[in-house]
Amino acid sequence: MSGELAFFGGQKAVTVSDREAEEFFRWPIITKEDEDAVLEVLRAGTMSGTNITSQFEKEYAAWQGTKYALAFNNGTSALLAAMFACGIGAGDEIICQSVTYWASILPAYSLGATAIFADIDPDTLCIDPGDIEKRISKNTKAIMVVHYIGHPADMDAIMAIAKNHNLKVIEDVSHAQGGLYRGKKLGTFGDVSAMSLMSGKSFPTGEGGILVTDSLEYYERAIAFGHYNMYDDSIKTESLKPYAGLPMGGIKGRMHQLSAAVGRVQLKYNDQRTAEIRKAMNCFWDLLEGVPGIRAHRVSEAEGSNMAGWYAPHGLYRPEELEGLSITRFCQAVSAEGVKTEPGCNAALHSHPLFQTVDIYRQGKPTRIANTARDVRELDKNLPVSNGIGDRVYTIPWFKHYKPVIIEQYANAFKKVSANYRELLKDDPKTPAGVHWHFYDIKK
Ligand SMILES: *Cc1c(COP(=O)(O)O)cnc(C)c1O
Repeated sequence: MSGELAFFGGQKAVTVSDREAEEFFRWPIITKEDEDAVLEVLRAGTMSGTNITSQFEKEYAAWQGTKYALAFNNGTSALLAAMFACGIGAGDEIICQSVTYWASILPAYSLGATAIFADIDPDTLCIDPGDIEKRISKNTKAIMVVHYIGHPADMDAIMAIAKNHNLKVIEDVSHAQGGLYRGKKLGTFGDVSAMSLMSGKSFPTGEGGILVTDSLEYYERAIAFGHYNMYDDSIKTESLKPYAGLPMGGIKGRMHQLSAAVGRVQLKYNDQRTAEIRKAMNCFWDLLEGVPGIRAHRVSEAEGSNMAGWYAPHGLYRPEELEGLSITRFCQAVSAEGVKTEPGCNAALHSHPLFQTVDIYRQGKPTRIANTARDVRELDKNLPVSNGIGDRVYTIPWFKHYKPVIIEQYANAFKKVSANYRELLKDDPKTPAGVHWHFYDIKK
């Protein structure tokens, strides 16, 4: 790649117009069909009375390949219900990767359980199976698996550990709806799975979430937790029968019917749309194969795995190949070329005060240690990959359409910066990446 870096006043690598870019990156894709589906529900005048959500659930279960699907108002409540469904309760510990969104694990506290953080693999950014076993105690009940930013977690290894130690597995599929691991759908490995269907995710319904499982008991426990309207005489699980008609969890999790209407239309097109996204994203990374300092965050599709809709895609940074050029300066230079990019991903949750010192439920000590006999914060001292991840990943464009001519421009921006990195070393302020726990940027 030749040419002066745009950072120093040269021509930008990316010359697409704002209008073109808007079309290229727009998500979710909403058509007249979505609009009509929403209007139909509104015009029926029975926004809470139609059976549109149960139709969506049936169709989603068929697409997912599970016996049951239960729709929720958001992913967070679906995850909370999934934890309740498989029996998480007072004193239990759940192992989860520290680099994830809050909702993967924070709801455990409201069930009286405790988060135990495990480290991530530096290449997949998913839980490192080799780090799970040493965190298991007699109170460990489950592993919360996150297919982080689209990458399938190492399910073979995780399921083997779960089997050995008699642990439940919950999958948080919020970043990878419809994705595959060795030919099998993500969300069908664990005992129960849950996912967000929020408008920004790669399966968008507006605000929404869904729980899927093959277990009738877990399905019914999730209903009992927060779907009193469905919690009636048809419940088969004996232990639930006496409380039918009440939400045991004291919450109401029902999905908005306008979201269900959008979900039904989105379901028809999700496979087709994510297939185009995959083609575009793989094209981008193919163009960057072998470029110093830069690695793809992607799974090999040769064994039937994939990244589904590539939600919030990131690249891996290897500064040692660029004489230590800081990620901050790297991202500034790439951004100057016309590509929005910033360092980091979700910051490690264990490093936030919420998981160290805050007494959320007024138990007289930090919530993190209030539900368990051991000081689990000691375990947080050994999460090196999670702690350093902000300096080794950066956001990349999330292409929705396969247009190689445009994608090439974006890839060229990264190539150009890598090829000219020496010029950037001179005044590199070496500012470490900011820490952002999603939505809140806290500059250290
Ligand atoms: C978005 C997200 C959730 C929560 O979903 P909401 O629909 O926003 O409640 C849970 N887990 C992960 C990994 C997410 O990214």
